[in-house]
Amino acid sequence: MSDDPKLKFRPETLAVAHGYDPEFGMWAAKPPIFMTSTFVYPSAQHAKDVHEAFFDGTGPLKGTTNHIYARLGHPGLDFLEKRLAAMDGAEAAAAFSSGMAAHSAIALAFMRPGDSMLHGRPIYGGVDMLYNQILSDFGTHSEAYLDGTDEADVRRAADAAMAKGPVKLIVAETPANPTAAIVDLALMVRMADEIGAKQGHRPLVVTDNTLLGPFAQRPFEWGVDLNMTSLTKYCGGHSDLLAGGVSGRAELIEKLRFQRVIWGSHLDPFTSWLLLRSIESVAVRTERAMENARAVAEWLRDHPKVAGVTYLGFLPEGSVRRAVFDRQCTAAGSTFSFHLHGGEAEAFRLLDRLQLMKLAVSLGGSETLICHSATTTHYAVPREKRLEGGITDGTIRLSVGLEHKDDLIADLAQAMEAV
Ligand SMILES: *Cc1c(COP(=O)(O)O)cnc(C)c1O
Repeated sequence: MSDDPKLKFRPETLAVAHGYDPEFGMWAAKPPIFMTSTFVYPSAQHAKDVHEAFFDGTGPLKGTTNHIYARLGHPGLDFLEKRLAAMDGAEAAAAFSSGMAAHSAIALAFMRPGDSMLHGRPIYGGVDMLYNQILSDFGTHSEAYLDGTDEADVRRAADAAMAKGPVKLIVAETPANPTAAIVDLALMVRMADEIGAKQGHRPLVVTDNTLLGPFAQRPFEWGVDLNMTSLTKYCGGHSDLLAGGVSGRAELIEKLRFQRVIWGSHLDPFTSWLLLRSIESVAVRTERAMENARAVAEWLRDHPKVAGVTYLGFLPEGSVRRAVFDRQCTAAGSTFSFHLHGGEAEAFRLLDRLQLMKLAVSLGGSETLICHSATTTHYAVPREKRLEGGITDGTIRLSVGLEHKDDLIADLAQAMEAV
C-alpha cells in the first residue's frame, strides 16, 4: 500500500493490506508464510552487523530489516505489527502468542517489587490473576476502582494505590469484561498526570481495547500510553487462534519486544499470517455482529425472566456513563451480559437447552458464544469481588456472532422456556 503522506487512509482501509509490500514477497499479492526458525547470513561480517544493529542499534545495518532467529522476530511479525500500529494510529506495535502474553510483558517490563498499580473491577480474569496472584507474590501491589467514570472513586483508589507504593501502571479495560462497564479514558490520563505530580513520576496508562474490536474506540485520541488488544477475539474473529497485540510509542514497544524475546512469547509465522488474513474483514464482521447484538439485547430486555441487560446501547440518557460512552465510543459492541432472575440453577437450565448458541468462553468469533460468568470466566474471582463488579449468580455473557439474528432470538426464546 502506498506510503504517500498526502493520502491519509482510515483504519478500516489500513486493515485490508497495510504492512505487506508485494515487492518483498516476489510480487505475491498476499504475504508468504516464512516457516523458518533461523535466518542465513551472506557473510560472517554481515552476521556481526545484523547482531550489532539488533542489540546496540548501531553499525552499517542500523534501521534496516534483518532477522536472526524467529523468537527475536520474523517477516510475518513485521507485516502484522506494521498493520496493527497503523490501524491504531501508533508509532509501533508488538504481537504476542496470546493476549495474556501481551499483558504479562507489560507487567514484567514496567512493574518491580514494591511498585503499585491501579485497575478497574470487573476486569478480565487473567489480568486479575496476573496482578493479584502472580505479580503480588513478587511483592507488587494493586488497587481497584469500581466505577471508572466516577472521578472521586478513581481518586480514592489512586490514593490507596500510592499509599502502598509508587504507582507504575493504570490498566483500563473498557468496556470491561463481562458486564461492558465503561471506563473514562480521559479521566485515566488525568489521574496519571495527578499521580505523576504527587509521586514525581507519571504512571503509564494502558488500555485493554479487546471488547469493542479495534475501531469503535480509539484510545490514543485520549492520550493513553499503550493500547493492548487480545487479537484472539474480534481481529482473529473465527475462534481458531490465540494472539495479542500492544501498540504505542516505539520506545515503550521496544521494552515489550525485549521481554518477548526472552520469555519466548512471540507470535509464530502461521498465526501471524492467519491474523493478517482475518484482520482484512474485521470491520465488516464487527459491524454485522453489532447489529445482531442490538436485536438480541432488545429482545432480552423485554423478557420477564431477565432482571437486566448490561448492553452499552442501553446506558440511560443523561447519565455520566452515557456521556462517556457517547464521547469515547462509536458503537455499542457485540459482547454484553444479561442477568437472569434467580441464580446458577436458572442459568444452567437456559444454557443446557440452547441448540444454536455454543456454550463456550471467549468472544468475538463468527459464531455466537454464551457462558455463565461466575462458574467459567470469573470462576477464580472471589464471589464478593464478582458481586462488586456486577457479576451475579444469574449473569450470562453473550458474544453475538454472524448468524441470522432471528435464529439467535428463536434459540434464546425456546431455551428461556426451561428457566
Ligand atoms: C480474552 C481477553 C484477554 C486475554 O487474551 P488471550 O488472547 O485469551 O490471552 C484479555 N483481555 C480481555 C478483555 C479479553 O477478553
